Parts: sequence; structure tokens; C-alpha cells
Amino acid sequence: MSAVPNITLNDGNHIPQLGFGVFQIPPEETALAVRTALEIGYRHIDTAEMYQNEEGVGQSIRDAGLDRAEVYITSKLNNGFHKPDDARRAFDETLQKLGSDYVDLFLIHWPLPTLYDGDFVSTWQTMEQFRQDGRARSIGVSNFQIHHLQELARETATTPAVNQIEVHPYFANDEVRAYGAEHNVPTEAWSPIAQGAVLGDPVVGRIAAGLGKTAAQVVLRWHIERGDTVFPKSITPERIRENFAIFDFELTDDQIDAISALDKGEAGRRGPNPDTFDYIPA
Ligand code: NDP
Repeated sequence: MSAVPNITLNDGNHIPQLGFGVFQIPPEETALAVRTALEIGYRHIDTAEMYQNEEGVGQSIRDAGLDRAEVYITSKLNNGFHKPDDARRAFDETLQKLGSDYVDLFLIHWPLPTLYDGDFVSTWQTMEQFRQDGRARSIGVSNFQIHHLQELARETATTPAVNQIEVHPYFANDEVRAYGAEHNVPTEAWSPIAQGAVLGDPVVGRIAAGLGKTAAQVVLRWHIERGDTVFPKSITPERIRENFAIFDFELTDDQIDAISALDKGEAGRRGPNPDTFDYIPA
């Protein structure tokens, strides 16, 4: 099987284009699921303080006998910790839970424009310190809309290394992606298979049958060929393996266009709208 390609970020660091997401994997099941992924060959794990499973991620890397440097780890600042002092404490805890003295990528999980007087700029400036002291090799954002990215560009010195946003065939999110491409902020596509909702689509099914691949493989391949980074989540070993086997085939332009045509715009969004999302976990 061909190797997972790397994407070069605007700070010169590299990220594997395919990773393993651990949202909604219960803490006690995380180490085993990630261990399975590592054994299959994944070397990029996407976690978050909000997922409450950073410890399992760190544990699995040690259990697998891998050097920390062999695995790319992303975590995210939880919504309750946007004030600079809270962010510093939360980041210390993330590192402690991972059992590592650095993360490869640390993200502001949500912009929360209706909270904190709309101030995510001072949060970002705190993230810049984590990068300067080397404990976050790269810093980025998640769920930022174009106007949020524009505000950071106006007010701060550092361009986010990535923007992690909802993207799948039913919600292509192409305006935010295009802004990112133009301004050197690569897109990471969360819920890349729409939590399974696109897998029964007849267009996807027809393409998959013609290629002798599964629907999930075809959709993940669509993301890869559009240039986004993806990290499908699964606790099922066969699916974890299946989702990794997407580098021995290609889609034609017509197949890519047919999948892109499934976009439903805002109606296809499965997660919350970042302009109004204001959830702070208890
Ligand atoms: P995904 O689109 O990755 O879908 C996961 C679901 O699809 C699970 O129910 C899984 O089932 C199922 N599944 C996985 N692979 C297959 C397959 N090959 N065939 C059939 N079903 C399959 O959803 P997520 O929401 O988990 O998104 C992926 C990652 O993106 C997250 O884990 C997280 O890291 C990140 N994310 C980030 C967000 C943010 O705000 N920044 C928000 C949401 C996600 P099962 O596990 O039972 O096998």
C-alpha cells in the first residue's frame, strides 16, 4: 500500500493527510482503538480536551512502543478556557494527559463569537505563545468562518496552520475552503463521511461498485483528491483498516464532480453553525 502523503503547512511543518479521529470514543476504549489504528499504520491522531480521551491517546503510543516523534498528535482548546490564563492551564493539562512535552498541532476548537465578548483574538495570542515556547509545534483553528479568519489576519501576526471544519459530500463548505486555499490555511475536514450518512448515497454506491471499493473509501478518496486532511473515526477494527486503504486507486474528474454535486449547502450541515455555537461543557 502506498504511503500516506504529507501536507506542508504555512509554518514549514508537515502533517499526514490521513489520520484517525477519536471524537465519541469512550475514554476507556480509546487506548485500544488508537493502538489498532497505529498497528494498521496510522501516524496521525486527532483528539481534543472536549473528547476526554487524551490520556488514552498518549497511552496507546507508549503501549505500541512507538517514539513520540513518530506520531502526529492534534489536540484542541476546550470552549470553557478561552481566557488567556485558563488557556495556559488547559494546555498544560493537555500535555500532561498526553504524557508528552509537546503537541504537533493545537487548535482553538470553536470561535464562540457570542461568548467572551467575541474575543478570540486574545485566545489566539495565547496560542502564539505555545508555539513560541515550542510546546505546540503548530497552532491552528477549528470551525472558523471566513470573517473569523479575516479578523485574526487583521489583528494578529500568525496565520493559522490549518482550519478544521465540517466537510463531506453533503456539506462541501467550499467558500471557507476556498478562502483557506487562497490565504495559505489548509482545510482539515471533520466528519468526513458525515458520521456514516453519505455511505448509503446511490451516487457514491455506484462509483464504489464500479471501482470495487467501499462507499467510505470512495468518499475519503474524494477528500484526499480535493487536498483536504481527513481523520475518520471508527471503533471497528475492519473499518479502521478499510479507511486506511485509500491510496491504491484514484477517482476520475467525473467521479469527483458527481460526488461534489451532492452538496446540499447549509441544509447538509450535520454539526452546529460556528456563528451561533456557544456550548461550554459542564
Ligand atoms: P466520521 O465522519 O468520521 O464518521 C464516524 C462514524 O462512521 C462512526 O459512527 C463510525 O462507526 C462510522 N464509520 C467509520 N468508518 C466507517 C466505514 N468504513 N464504514 C461504515 N461506517 C463507518 O465522524 P466524526 O464526527 O467522528 O469525525 C471524524 C473526526 O473529526 C472526529 O473523530 C474528530 O477527530 C473530528 N471532529 C472534529 C470536530 C471539530 O469541531 N473540530 C467535530 C467533529 C469531529 P464505528 O465507530 O461504530 O465503526
